[in-house]
Amino acid sequence: MEEKLVSRREFLGRGVMVGMAGLAFPVLNPALTGNGPKTEFRTLGKTGLKVSTVGYGCMRTREPAVIHRAIDLGVNYFDTARRYMDGFNETVLGQVLKVRRDEVIVATKILPNRTTEEAIMDSFDASLKALQTEAVDVIQLHSINRVEQIIHEETLGTLVKIKESGKARFLGFTTHSNQTGLLNAAASQGFFDVILVSYNFKSPPELTEAIRNAAEAGIGIVAMKTQAGGYADHEMGSFTPHQAALKWTLQNPGVHTTVPSMTTFAQLEENVRVMGSRMGWLDRKRLEQYGKTIDSRLCRMCGACEAQCPRHVDILETNRALMYYEGYRDAALARSAFRDIPFFRSANRCADCAVCTVTCAYGLNIRSKMAQAQELMRMA
Ligand code: SF4
Ligand code: SF4
Repeated sequence: MEEKLVSRREFLGRGVMVGMAGLAFPVLNPALTGNGPKTEFRTLGKTGLKVSTVGYGCMRTREPAVIHRAIDLGVNYFDTARRYMDGFNETVLGQVLKVRRDEVIVATKILPNRTTEEAIMDSFDASLKALQTEAVDVIQLHSINRVEQIIHEETLGTLVKIKESGKARFLGFTTHSNQTGLLNAAASQGFFDVILVSYNFKSPPELTEAIRNAAEAGIGIVAMKTQAGGYADHEMGSFTPHQAALKWTLQNPGVHTTVPSMTTFAQLEENVRVMGSRMGWLDRKRLEQYGKTIDSRLCRMCGACEAQCPRHVDILETNRALMYYEGYRDAALARSAFRDIPFFRSANRCADCAVCTVTCAYGLNIRSKMAQAQELMRMA
């Protein structure tokens, strides 16, 4: 395995070189002291960008100082969205980009459900302004769940215009549901350069295969929700599963980088030390214990329940919002996710439903989950 000492600026200067897809190689990082790990990079599919295997999910970050520290530690992939914190998240990242744009790779997202050229351009221009940059590296359609959305003519035409303008180097989309179908469709289609996918040690096996398939087709794969919700487990004490969960995700060579959500220096220091390390016996034990804790709570986003509810309640998206509340312990984010679900598909429709006929493939009690969601929405 190649191992060498290079400066970050020198490294990023080489960033457009195309290497073998998925190639991982470590670079000694002077910012990590003692016997700390190395910064590890993989090639983000056909983009050719060299990305640190631990990237940064900015979604809930309010402190530019944590982002600055991440760059110092060798993290070079930063993911945000126009939707996060109603745009404020891009403003936070923009404060860093204003002075360190040439050191990082930036990915953001068009507001969800924007399909016309005017709406997409409005969202994109607002992102550039908030990020204080003339161009981003990756622009993505946000929260895609149907194949029709990634073949929509006006949407794709607008993305091509953005790319041709030089204001975004690469095009992508993000997804939480129908992921296998979307990855396979995108692999055949060949339009998109990058996909941000929800993937962790509790994901269904077919998703692992779909990721491999898409990566082999040259698509850069970025993994989110790598901590399977980040639920607190009091029985584990200081025995945290977060490093083990990240290592598990990175075992798939089709995953090129990960974007765990981080808000504190402690989380950053914990996650960044995963780079260059591999799963061991202790990691497996930690995941086993963490898995038992979350088994009755975590939606695997497999989509198996999708067509079961006679009232068309969006169970998967509702469970995702609940995960933000129970796992991330972020009530504002949970409520924002609830608000994104159209009213005719919201858990409010469960209120006078006599019998829940939905069966979860992983044994979750859907009736109880939807009741929890209604309670939360009432508090909003
Ligand atoms: S209780 Fe179950 S079947 Fe009834 S509306 Fe809610 S999710 Fe659908
Ligand atoms: S609720 Fe169950 S069946 Fe539905 S998407 Fe989640 S894990 Fe799959």
